[in-house]
Order: sequence, then structure tokens, then C-alpha cells
Amino acid sequence: MQDILEKTKDDRVELSEKEISYILKMNDPKELKALYSLADQIRLKYVKNQVCIHGIIEFSNYCRNNCLYCGIRKDNQRLKRYRMSIEEIVNVADWAVNRCGYKMLVLQSGEDLWFSKEKLVEIIKRIKDKCRVFLFMSIGERDFDTYAQMYIAGAKGVLFRFETSDPKLYSKLHPGLKYESRIEHLSWMKNIGYLVASGPLIGLPGQTEESLARDILLTKEIEVNMISMGLFIVHPDTPLSNYFSGRPELFLKTITAARLVYKNVRIPITTAYEVVSGKNGREQAFRAGANSIMLNLTPEIYRKNYNIYPGKTELKEHVHSSKSTKEAITLIRSLERRVCKGWGKDYTLTASDFMAGCR
Ligand code: SAH
Repeated sequence: MQDILEKTKDDRVELSEKEISYILKMNDPKELKALYSLADQIRLKYVKNQVCIHGIIEFSNYCRNNCLYCGIRKDNQRLKRYRMSIEEIVNVADWAVNRCGYKMLVLQSGEDLWFSKEKLVEIIKRIKDKCRVFLFMSIGERDFDTYAQMYIAGAKGVLFRFETSDPKLYSKLHPGLKYESRIEHLSWMKNIGYLVASGPLIGLPGQTEESLARDILLTKEIEVNMISMGLFIVHPDTPLSNYFSGRPELFLKTITAARLVYKNVRIPITTAYEVVSGKNGREQAFRAGANSIMLNLTPEIYRKNYNIYPGKTELKEHVHSSKSTKEAITLIRSLERRVCKGWGKDYTLTASDFMAGCR
């Protein structure tokens, strides 16, 4: 533990896989407290006190894939499927940006080919016409041209998790899909110019601390701009219904380890963790290395059907209202942090503009 603390003081020294997995296995409350506080200091030193609030709009729960953990997988017949119309998506974005002040939005869906390249481009253009906003797309594996055209239309970020860096575990959990393809997508997304948010799911059945440690190292290796990590939650209508959900402590340890490894990166508090962590979860994560947050803006009538995992759709901190945004802002201020007001000079942001917006 002492070695790890010493090592993190030196920017040139990197924690090894062994040291990271040691952190992830730690259980002693006193040691953990010291570790969280160290991550908090590193957060303050490298990314200062700004907190960015991202809003997520889940516009379709149709999906062609069958990821074993996911509630909107193709074979889940119990789910009512929906697609928001282009008009509805644009209106929610307009409301979020021009009424509530959101600067960053994520448009997310299952892998739904009904939203063709042309439709996606139209959505992006119409949103960018009305709103000064940084747009992330989170729509899964699509062809190069779709991503290139979306970038030209004005979406400058992607949220695309690699889910796990263990190729064997990846292929077990994602029937018909290949780890190499996922990573290849990330690489050409970067080449197109996208800012990339990516990371693992934490607490997956079959995942070890060592594997999670390699996930963290991978985020740094591919230089993601934001480490987006989910916490695995068991969904009863999936093949993994008999397993255990990931524990909130493991999420905290993972964001802490991620902050110690990749000091100047953006780390959001993600919804799955908030579902299981309870009342103080958000604050704890902000004090353990996190520096941004994702709030759900999906309209009430659809939200309950974007049922990736249970508990998500009832989370009261995420109701589609300006109240939940205000609550988040109140917490951010009570921690003596500031809400990000801007993110660069114009619509075509570079990676450094994006990071500059957070300093
Ligand atoms: N189709 C897009 C978006 C996927 S859904 C894509 O392929 O990138 C968004 C994220 O939800 C997934 O990347 C996954 O990490 C997460 N997720 C799915 N099922 C989950 C579960 N049971 N518990 C926690 N997170 C889950």
C-alpha cells in the first residue's frame, strides 16, 4: 500500500497490473479511505474542480445483438420496444440544452439499423442547428462511413465501451461478436477525430481483478478521453439471471484505481452504480476520483422500456425534469466544485479544447 502511495506521486511511474489488482482486492476500510482520498487529491491536482454534467437520451431500445447481460438484448421478448421519432429526439435535446443548460448530450440506443446513416445524420444536423452542444453517439457497431458522416454532421464524441479487455470473456458474453472488432471500431473512431468515452463493465461473471486491472490499463493505452465504466447488474430476463450483481465498493475501487493510473482523464459517475449505491453513492464517488456525471433525460413514457438492467428506470435522481439537474448541481456545489460552463471555442472541438473545458 505504501509503495503504491509513493508511486502515484511520480508522474513518470505507472502502476502495474499487479498493483492495480491489489487495489481492487483491498478490503480494509481504513486503507480504502486513504486510497479514495489520494484519488481525490489527484483529481484536484490534474483536472481541478470542474464537474461536467452529461445528459443521456435513450432513443431506441431495439437491438440486433444478444449480449448475455443486457436487458434490451434481441431475444428478450418481454420488453416493449420503442423508437423515438426524429422530432421527439430533437425536441428533448432542444429542451435539455436551451432550457436546462446542458452542454453535453449522449444519444444512445441498441444496435438499431432502422436508424440508418441518413436518419442519424439528420438528427445530428437538426440538433446542431438548434443547440450549442457537444454530442456523443452511443449506438454500437456501425460501419465506418456511418461514423464518418455523423462526425461531419456535427457529432464529435462516441460512447462505446469495450466491456472487457479479455477476448475470451468478451466472446462468451457477446454471441456472434468479436473483441477485435470492438477494438478496431475504437481505433478508427479515434482516427476520424471523435473524442472517445470507453471502458469496461465492472463485476461481470467470470471477470477477475487482474482482468479489470488490464481494462484500466487499456483505457490509458488507447487514450480514451473519458473512462465510462458500468457496474454489472443482474437482469432477470437474461441468461445471466442467476449470477450476482457487481458491488458498489468495487465500482469505487475501480474509479479510484483508474484515477491513480490515468490522472488527467474524465471519469463520470454512471447510472448503474447509482442504482445500487444508495443515497450517498454519488457523493462518495465524487470523493473517490470521479469528476463528471451522467443524468438520464429520456422521456418518462420511454424510459421504463430502456430496461438494460433493473432499478435503472425508477431511479428518482434521474427523472426527466429540471429538478434532478438542480439536485446534481446542488451536490456539486456543496462539494465546492463548479459545474462546467463551456467546452471550448466553437463546435469543432479538439481533444485539448474538450479537456480545457474542464479546467
Ligand atoms: N448499443 C450501444 C449502447 C449499449 S447499451 C453499444 O453497443 O455501445 C449501453 C451500455 O449498457 C453497454 O455498453 C453496457 O456496458 C451497459 N449494460 C448493458 N447491460 C447491463 C447490465 N446488465 N448492467 C450494467 N450495465 C449494462
